[in-house]
Amino acid sequence: MAHALVALGSNVGNRRQTLDDACRDLTATPGIDVVRTSRWYETSPVGGPGGQHVFLNGAALLETSLAPLALLDALQAVESTHGRVREIAWGPRTLDLDVLLYDDLVLQSQRLTLPHPRLSYRKFVLEGAVKIAGAMRHPRIGRTLDELWQHLAKAPHYVAFVGHLGGFRMQFAAEAADAAGASLVEATADDVAPFETLSSLNGLLPSQVLQFVNARAAAVTSSLTAAGDRWVVDDGWWSDEFRELAECAGMIGLPAEIAVPPTPRLIARLITSQSSNDAPSSGLPEVVLDISRREDALMEFAAALEAAH
Ligand code: ATP
Ligand code: CA
Ligand code: CA
Repeated sequence: MAHALVALGSNVGNRRQTLDDACRDLTATPGIDVVRTSRWYETSPVGGPGGQHVFLNGAALLETSLAPLALLDALQAVESTHGRVREIAWGPRTLDLDVLLYDDLVLQSQRLTLPHPRLSYRKFVLEGAVKIAGAMRHPRIGRTLDELWQHLAKAPHYVAFVGHLGGFRMQFAAEAADAAGASLVEATADDVAPFETLSSLNGLLPSQVLQFVNARAAAVTSSLTAAGDRWVVDDGWWSDEFRELAECAGMIGLPAEIAVPPTPRLIARLITSQSSNDAPSSGLPEVVLDISRREDALMEFAAALEAAH
């Protein structure tokens, strides 16, 4: 028997009745037991067309003997029973049932991605999921749902882009910030080498790294202060490795003052449809953006900021 965590959502018709009935339908499905459900709670629509009704959302923990794809079939059959039609992406729907987690399975196929690709940063999903399965671990990110929820609740509205796409990443980050109404971290001083230069150099001088990390940390902090409650977008991420390098610089006698940049609430990872997404996890909530579909990527980024706000 596997444990599957499912998200439920409805924003058309008698939402409460639909979610209650959906749970009954799942229980009545051979090979599925509903172990626990969260309460149903209202959330604002995210990402889709404007003017939609408020959603009623919740989560259910299932015990199932069905294989992942058979489970998806079963969920889609229940959706159809309740009149779900697929029209616009993220549009209004009578019933939406998503598989968030299936034990600790990581799977990428045409019909099914596990864990659900947008689980790690969607507050409207995690809110119910943590109530019934907070100790389940996101197998890609390596954090429990409780940890992801806590992180989203307390980290600053700071999102950092990663992905080895050279100068393109900086350009895309600027465009994405603009499209999402967020502000971009202002450039560091002229006498500090830009990150793109630093990151592409082998054998950096530790003093340069130190100078850069410090300047960047200060820029991020002042951008966050200026932005108030709005998101701040960074075109690179001062990862733990980078920080370690800066600390090493301190150990060999360079000025030991190291400003620690804030930890992003969200990582935006740029990929192309050619490149597989097998990069090591950041350990933070991540939105994966396929930049070979540029317009979709910009839309998905803006929706991710809303969902993680
Ligand atoms: P989102 O995935 O962002 O929540 P949505 O639920 O509105 O969006 P749908 O139109 O319901 O998207 O589903 C589109 C397709 O996503 C489905 O036909 C299904 O094959 C696929 N899919 C991939 N992974 C999953 C998953 N983990 N759970 C449910 N559907 C998935
Ligand atoms: Ca969904
Ligand atoms: Ca769905």
